[in-house]
Amino acid sequence: MESAGLKLGVDGVLAELATLAKISEAEPPVVTRVVFSEADLHARAYVKRLCIDAGLTVHEDAVGNTFARWAGSDPGLAPVGTGSHIDAIPNAGMYDGCVGVLGGLEAIRVLQKLGFKPRRSIELVIFTAEEPTRFGIGCLGSRLMAGVLTAAQALALRDKEGHGLDELRARAGFTGSLASVALTTGRFHQFVELHIEQGPLLEQDGIDIGLVTHIAAPASVRIMLEGEGGHAGGKLMPGRKDALTAAAELILALEAAAKSSGAIDTVATVGVCDVFPGAVNSIPSRVRLETDIRDTDGTRRDRVLAVLQATCNEVALRRGVAISAEMVNADPPATCDPAIVTAMEEAAKAAGKTCKRMVSRAYHDTLFMARIAPVAMLFIPCRGGVSHRPDEYASPEWIGSGIHVLARTLATLAS
Ligand SMILES: [Zn+2]
Repeated sequence: MESAGLKLGVDGVLAELATLAKISEAEPPVVTRVVFSEADLHARAYVKRLCIDAGLTVHEDAVGNTFARWAGSDPGLAPVGTGSHIDAIPNAGMYDGCVGVLGGLEAIRVLQKLGFKPRRSIELVIFTAEEPTRFGIGCLGSRLMAGVLTAAQALALRDKEGHGLDELRARAGFTGSLASVALTTGRFHQFVELHIEQGPLLEQDGIDIGLVTHIAAPASVRIMLEGEGGHAGGKLMPGRKDALTAAAELILALEAAAKSSGAIDTVATVGVCDVFPGAVNSIPSRVRLETDIRDTDGTRRDRVLAVLQATCNEVALRRGVAISAEMVNADPPATCDPAIVTAMEEAAKAAGKTCKRMVSRAYHDTLFMARIAPVAMLFIPCRGGVSHRPDEYASPEWIGSGIHVLARTLATLAS
């Protein structure tokens, strides 16, 4: 693959990224593109036009997941997929998701220009609503594709204004049964997502490409503690049922469990602690905690969850505080396919790029694609590890390297 043609392509894709970034609900350079908003629909139209211009066949499913296919010479074979998302949280930047979509398209165009003829079709996927902004659940499109979220569960989703998914998707032009979004295993032969790292490691180490071997997944537990309130002066210490001191024990026990898991990949956070009634001279009677526990190893993560549950039981008994823990979600982590990781590694070496194996600590649509296909992810650096902010930045060189390695990987997988 000669690099002069690739350089030309990077200039083009940078211009496309800039154009896409201007399709925003907020004043540029701020990118806000919530699913099914006016900006999202314009952005979809723009990307679809680029796909059609590249000779790809475009189709959309009932929730707006978009598939753009470059037909291979053997149409009987399952395609190789690549892609990401173009929705963006409020006050976001221009690279998260978009590098995987426009970079994936550019990888296809590079291969076309070089005269490559894929045996398997190569399909660019633009997932609907990777971000949880509108419906409170991340990866809506890929969850439906993987059958992790059922049509009935999806139909119950509403946004903050009370509009249901059905109403909003119909208004955006997407109709048909939501059940039809689910794909069977085998629909994709393999799937690779190009993405910015959203962490600082590649830039710090001066490495061009991250080869993702595992994708961590969060488990979220909501804990309600119900004690006994009272006057902070009148009620003496013996016999108190203080919900907040009980919550403090849980928070510290969770931290200790994550720290002592034996792996640096175990992380646990209590990000919400609501105290009722929240007055300085009143004993807390009720506390709500929301916890996020992540790991690349599901068994190890579940051991931390078990410690948390056991601590809830023990503290409830000892302190006389009622504690209930509700699992909000617990998606299993994904292990990337070793054959794809090896193909990416060889592609990076052939392209003259430095690379290293790493873990994705954020989750992506690929986490759900892993349920129905062998998957992997390619990371490129982003400045300072900054993401989900307007000053998110990936250099032209980093983007060019990502596209180059993705193109070579797709060529290998589709041969
Ligand atoms: Zn993303």
